[in-house]
Amino acid sequence: MDKIIIVGSGFSGSILARKIAEELNRKVLIVERRNHIAGNMFDEYDENGILIQRYGPHFINTNNYAVIRFLLKYSKLFRHDTKLLSFIDGNYVRLPFNFRTMQQLVGDEKSEYLLKKMRSEYVGRDRVPIFELLNNEDESIREYGKLLFEKAYKTYTAKQWGLQPEEIDKSVLERVPMAMNFDERYLNKDFQYLPENGYTELFKNLLEHPNIEVRLNTDALPHIEFDEDNHTIKYDGENVELLVFTGAIDELFNLKYGRLPYRSLDIKYDYFNEEKILPSEIISYPQAIGYTRKTEYKQITQNVPKINKTVVATEYPIEYDPDKNVGNIPYYPVLTENSKVAYEKYFAESKKYGNIFLCGRLAEFKYYNMDICIEHALDKFEKIKQILEV
Ligand SMILES: Cc1cc2nc3c(=O)[nH]c(=O)nc-3n(C[C@H](O)[C@H](O)[C@H](O)COP(=O)(O)OP(=O)(O)OC[C@H]3O[C@@H](n4cnc5c(N)ncnc54)[C@H](O)[C@@H]3O)c2cc1C
Repeated sequence: MDKIIIVGSGFSGSILARKIAEELNRKVLIVERRNHIAGNMFDEYDENGILIQRYGPHFINTNNYAVIRFLLKYSKLFRHDTKLLSFIDGNYVRLPFNFRTMQQLVGDEKSEYLLKKMRSEYVGRDRVPIFELLNNEDESIREYGKLLFEKAYKTYTAKQWGLQPEEIDKSVLERVPMAMNFDERYLNKDFQYLPENGYTELFKNLLEHPNIEVRLNTDALPHIEFDEDNHTIKYDGENVELLVFTGAIDELFNLKYGRLPYRSLDIKYDYFNEEKILPSEIISYPQAIGYTRKTEYKQITQNVPKINKTVVATEYPIEYDPDKNVGNIPYYPVLTENSKVAYEKYFAESKKYGNIFLCGRLAEFKYYNMDICIEHALDKFEKIKQILEV
């Protein structure tokens, strides 16, 4: 039989591998460039027994119970409402910016009027994107929008993306809206969870199937061969029946339409002989130079050892460059008008082959969260099933 190849062992690749292996009883080869499974969700215990998510903090949050039901097959989950603070003008304020932030930033008296005004303006709305505040007819709401924009969004965006806010796709800035209440949770989704023993354990269970072979430390690209005339694919010289690709799409086609922009992170760790060091599990620093966020993992995970030691991870956004020692992992697709046009060329190229499925944040060049990747992988399986069952 021709081969089924899945490139990448993040949620997109691993879910499809499991479904194909289990429900279609077909052998699947997962090829993974890194030395571990679980993609960006990879976590491991450090020498103090603290579970660290090596590619930044990841929280499962979704309104779709099907996502939770699927994950529960592979790990117990525990409820975790993520809470963040932002350090602005020397003070910690709540993030997402809520009515309490407003009181902290403009004072009780001024915020009294603003609070009433916003409540009446945005009736029934839980969260409102910053752009709506900036464009509101009421001058005081606009002014408050400007204050948030100048003190937080503008500088954060410049660091995170290496771009000015007007250059980046609006959907990216809309990801951190203002809460129209005193809700302290970072996200307002119905289901907010973390895997009981971490993500890597969940992925191990997901990939534990006799039909799945995982090949680590292997870049798939040198093994893949496209026949552009007949629109067929070979892997190590053998015919490929299905190629699921979850890596950067421009790399799959040898950068033929130029490199797509991705943003990377340099994550640095500081150890402290303290029980706890930060006032919240994650702090955002819009005004700091070079870095955007700090995460104290002890505050995130369960069953934390009772020791006077803790670790804080600081994220420094940097340009993605596959040839450098630091910054060689594409974390975020940089969505601009130009990059979206360039992506479409690669997407059209993939469509010439009836058996390539692009899946996930990098291959689809979208700012997807895990829940969307999981939903899409489950949906894509239904389409893949039709191809493989023919
Ligand atoms: C800092 C950070 C924080 C985040 N926090 C959250 C959060 O709190 N909640 C949330 O829902 N989402 C979060 N996300 C998003 C989440 O990481 C993505 O939705 C998820 O990783 C996408 O899964 P994936 O399988 O598509 O891709 P990935 O996890 O990136 O997996 C792709 C895999 O393909 C491999 N690969 C690529 N190219 C090749 C190749 N040529 N050969 C072999 N292997 C290859 C890679 O090594 C990688 O393992 C966050 C992302 C980042 C960067």
